[in-house]
Amino acid sequence: MTNPQPPPASDSRRPRSAELYERACRVIPGGVSSPVRAFRAVGGTPLFIARGAGAQVFDADGRAYLDFVGSWGPLIAGHAHPAVVGAVTEALARGSSFGAPCAPEVELAERIVAAYPAVEQVRFVSSGTEAVMSAIRVARAFTGRDLIVKFAGCYHGHADHLLVAAGSGLATFGRPSSAGVPEAFTACTRVLPLDDEAAAERLFAADGARIAALIIEPLPANHGLLPQRREFLEALRRLTRQHGALLIFDEVISGFRLGPGGAAQWLEIAPDLATFGKVIGGGMPVGAFGGARAIMARLAPDGDTYQAGTLSGNPVAMTAGLATLDLMARESGWEQLEARGAELERLLKPVLANCPFPVQLVRVASLFWLSFHGAGPPRTAAALSARESARFAALFHAMLDRGIYLPPSGYEACFLSLAHGSAELTRFANALRDALGAIE
Ligand SMILES: *Cc1c(COP(=O)(O)O)cnc(C)c1O
Repeated sequence: MTNPQPPPASDSRRPRSAELYERACRVIPGGVSSPVRAFRAVGGTPLFIARGAGAQVFDADGRAYLDFVGSWGPLIAGHAHPAVVGAVTEALARGSSFGAPCAPEVELAERIVAAYPAVEQVRFVSSGTEAVMSAIRVARAFTGRDLIVKFAGCYHGHADHLLVAAGSGLATFGRPSSAGVPEAFTACTRVLPLDDEAAAERLFAADGARIAALIIEPLPANHGLLPQRREFLEALRRLTRQHGALLIFDEVISGFRLGPGGAAQWLEIAPDLATFGKVIGGGMPVGAFGGARAIMARLAPDGDTYQAGTLSGNPVAMTAGLATLDLMARESGWEQLEARGAELERLLKPVLANCPFPVQLVRVASLFWLSFHGAGPPRTAAALSARESARFAALFHAMLDRGIYLPPSGYEACFLSLAHGSAELTRFANALRDALGAIE
């Protein structure tokens, strides 16, 4: 089953992007390196981005857009922040990778351990996907069990055994899982609905002794933004503990985004293992996973659980993460972002109240989602109707025409950065008022 797309129509307003897309489609499947970038959920030709500065990106045709994608989460300080660029440039001049230990990885590890109480030791990898894969492997090794529990609508990267009911990219394509994943690979994966203690209790009552770990995005942010009731997460903490299973918080988005202690601090719930990515790499390819020393000791070379990476912990990527976290601490970044989020909420309230069809703002700290769900923002992974999807697509293009770059899917959260000040938020609110008025 494929999802064929007619050859890209040449977009006369963005000729350079259109030309690049045509070339890309010849040599890259779908013309993109990650599916959601292809604009399939909203139609049209993806923008090719030439550069970014602060809250803006500039496309290959030289047009500027106020950006709410932020590279899907990493760019909490904004695009090309001088402090990050400076630190990375200096690190790069000293050599990009040695395949040997370096000081910046120790410093970044110390920073994570100090900020996140449940993590006593951490290991670096090069993506969130790898972080989750490795955390699951060590959880299985530590417990001597095979089963993994995940939640419908939570995305944990594209490892085979987790590509089940997994978030927006898949929801967008209306596919429950992926081709190319043998059933035997997902036979050890169980999927639960979010927001449902009783379902979790039933599963643990039946299979608890075989469950190695339960993994969840403590703030699910890959199928819209679905803040969970705290009692639900507390129930998961209790159940996993009762049954000797590990609780894994996938903090690839929420880690160092909600605050230095991530969603664990926000919820006051300590997981056994946590995975990180996005913000801790400051825009470079970085992931990490960590937990109690006793669990992490299972990893090679001390333990029997293999895990490795050619570019893991390289000094350039580590330095980008350190520079970003330093900047956030120096500028009280998380407090600032909370204030910006609150301001956005104030600005959007009258705009959304006057919209002729339902659109709701869901916001947690610097993450927000415009929910087009008619019945109000859901707490579980709910599909948008055809009508709601079409409305989002219309809004996306109406915003693009007004110089605002939203994520090209109604299931994706938007990101604020330190570069989104009052002027940018006001511009966004005004554009949204106009755009909502222009669509049906
Ligand atoms: C982005 C994401 C991942 C995967 O990270 P990659 O770096 O894209 O591999 C895993 N988990 C969550 C919660 C994510 O948001």
